[in-house]
Amino acid sequence: MAHRHEVIVVGAGGAGLTAALYAAREGADVAVGSKLYPTRSHTGAAQGGIGAALGNVEEDHWEWHMFDTVKGGDYLTDQDAAEVFAKEVIEAVIELEHMGLPFDRLPNGKIAQRRFGGHTKDWGKAPVHRAAHAADRTGHMILQTLYQQCVKHNITFYNEFHVTDVILEDGVAKGLVAYELATGELHLFEAKAIVIASGGFGRIYKITSNAYTLTGDLQAILYRKGLPLEDMEFYQFHPTGLYPLGILLTEGARGEGGILRNALGERFMERYAPTIKDLAPRDMVSRAMYLEVREGRGCGPKKDHVLLDLTHLPPEVIEKKLPDITEFSRIYLGVDPLKEPVPVMPTAHYAMGGIPTTLWGQVIQDENNTVVPGLYAAGEAACVSLHGANRLGTNSLGDLVVFGRRAGIHAARFAKDADYHELTEAHLGPSRERIERIKNSKGKERVAALRAELQQSMMDNASVFRTGELLSKQVEVLKELMDRYKNIAIDDKGEAYNTELVEALELGYLLEVSEALVHSALNRTESRGAHAREDYPERDDRNWLKHTLAYKVEDGKVAFRYKPVVLGRFEPKARTY
Ligand SMILES: Cc1cc2nc3c(=O)[nH]c(=O)nc-3n(C[C@H](O)[C@H](O)[C@H](O)COP(=O)(O)OP(=O)(O)OC[C@H]3O[C@@H](n4cnc5c(N)ncnc54)[C@H](O)[C@@H]3O)c2cc1C
Repeated sequence: MAHRHEVIVVGAGGAGLTAALYAAREGADVAVGSKLYPTRSHTGAAQGGIGAALGNVEEDHWEWHMFDTVKGGDYLTDQDAAEVFAKEVIEAVIELEHMGLPFDRLPNGKIAQRRFGGHTKDWGKAPVHRAAHAADRTGHMILQTLYQQCVKHNITFYNEFHVTDVILEDGVAKGLVAYELATGELHLFEAKAIVIASGGFGRIYKITSNAYTLTGDLQAILYRKGLPLEDMEFYQFHPTGLYPLGILLTEGARGEGGILRNALGERFMERYAPTIKDLAPRDMVSRAMYLEVREGRGCGPKKDHVLLDLTHLPPEVIEKKLPDITEFSRIYLGVDPLKEPVPVMPTAHYAMGGIPTTLWGQVIQDENNTVVPGLYAAGEAACVSLHGANRLGTNSLGDLVVFGRRAGIHAARFAKDADYHELTEAHLGPSRERIERIKNSKGKERVAALRAELQQSMMDNASVFRTGELLSKQVEVLKELMDRYKNIAIDDKGEAYNTELVEALELGYLLEVSEALVHSALNRTESRGAHAREDYPERDDRNWLKHTLAYKVEDGKVAFRYKPVVLGRFEPKARTY
C-alpha cells in the first residue's frame, strides 16, 4: 500500500511529536509513523525534569546553563548548539506550560525547579535549581501534552508501523518503507521531507534503563546505507540504576538531597567531586561507584553495589516529589526508601552519539557538513552535538523540544518548495527480501540467545571502563555474532503481530550500532567524558578535540573521518567539580 505526506516523522517520542507539531503549524501535511503506540514511546519514562534557566527559585542565566553543558560534555559539545539550546529551552518550557503541561508549582504559582547533576550557578560554584518537573513523571506529562496537541493539529498517525528502510537515491531522501505489525503488510511512503526521531539504543547492554524497543533502528539503517554515525563511543551510564535490575532512579533523588554511600557508610563523592559531591556529572559518579566497588568498599554479600540514602529526607519530599521511584524500589526490591537506603549501580542510559545534524536538524554526510536534502533527525537518535562526551541530566528533554522544533520547522519549509518523488513497488524489495530471508531461514541461531551474548559481551568489554585489549576482543565478538546472525531462524511464520520477526530485525540493528560504538571507542585513544580508557587515562585535546564520523565499509570494517568541534566562549579546561 502506498501513502503520501509532505513531512513524515519516524518516531512519536518527545522529539518526533515536537517536530510533527511545528511542521504542522508551518502548514505542512504531516504524518508520524511509530513502531509503538505514541504514548508508549520511551520519553514517557523520563523522570526528573527538563532543565531551563528560568530562575524561578534562585538567580540563573542561560550563559550559566550553556557553560555547564559545555563543561559537562568535556568540551566536545559544539558551542553553537549549546548556545541555541540554553537560550531556546527557556521559551520551550514556557510554551509547554501554555500547552497545558502540569508542572509542579512553587507557592507563588511559578514552575518549581530542582537541582540536578552538573547544573551550577556562577560558573560551577554550587548546584542550582534548574530542572522544571512534574513530580518524577516529567516525560510522561510531556508526551501526553504533545500528543494532544498533535491530535488537535490533525496530524496523521501510523501506529505500530515499523520502519524498515529509508529510500535514499541520488543523495536525496525520497521516502520510507514500513512493516505494519497488525497485518504483516509492507507500506511505501512518499515524502518531501523525512524527520528521524527514533530514540536511542540502550538495549545493546545487559543492564539498562532503556525499554526493549530502544534498538537503534534508524541509526543502523542509515549506517548500512553508507551515512556516518557521529561520536558513537560516548555512551552514558546513569549512576543510579536499581541494583541488580538497572531500572532508573532519577538523579532528582540526589537533587532533592539524596546521598550515595559505600559499605563503610562514607559519602564517597566528597572525595571525587568536593564542590558539588553527589551532584557531579553522571560519567564521574558512575566511575566513582565502580572504583569504590573495585577497591572493596561495595555493599551486600557480593560487595558489588553502593547505596542511595534518602532516609534523612522528610517523608513528604520522598512521597510527593519522588513517588514513582519510591514505588519501583518498594515493588522490585521490597526496600522502602523512607526507612532504608536503596541498592544502586550504574545502568546503560543514553547515547550521546547518533545521526549527525546541523543546528536545524538537517542530516549531514561528511566533515564539511554536506546535507542530505530532505533528511532530518532530532532527539536521542541524532547528534547535533549538544551533549558532547557526556550529557547532563535534564538536557535530553530540552534537546527534544528545542531541536525537534527546529527540525520540524525546517522540514516543513523545505517541503514547500520540493516535489514528491515517484516511488514504485520495487522500492519495497530490499525490506521484503530481508523479512523473507529471516522467515524462511533453516538456520540454527536463535534471537534471544544471540542478543543475550551481545548484551553480556558489550557489558564486559565496552561499558564504563574500557581498554584497547577489551575493545579489540569485542571487535572479534561482534564479527562472530554478525556471522551467526546470518543463520538466525524464527518459529512464527505468521503475518499478524509477528513480534518474533520484529525482534530478529531489531537484533540486526543492535549489532550494527554496537559495531559503530566499539570501533569508534577503540579508535579514540584518550579519555573524555563517558569514554574512559584505562590505557589512555588523560584527555588529549591536541589530538582528539574532534568529532568522530564512523562509516561502515563492510561487516567488521569501519572507516573514520573527523569533524572539528565548534568552540566559542569557553576555552577547554581541566574538568573538576
Ligand atoms: C528511565 C529514563 C528516565 C529519563 N529521565 C530523563 C529526565 O528526567 N530528563 C531528561 O532530560 N532526560 C531523561 N531521560 C532521557 C530522555 O527521556 C530520552 O533521551 C528521550 O526521551 C528520547 O526521546 P526521543 O523522542 O528521541 O525518543 P523516544 O521517546 O525513545 O521515542 C522513539 C520513537 O521512535 C519510534 N521508533 C523507533 N524505531 C522505529 C522504527 N523502526 N519504526 C518506527 N518507529 C520507530 C518509537 O516507536 C518511538 O515512538 C530519561 C531516559 C530514561 C530511559
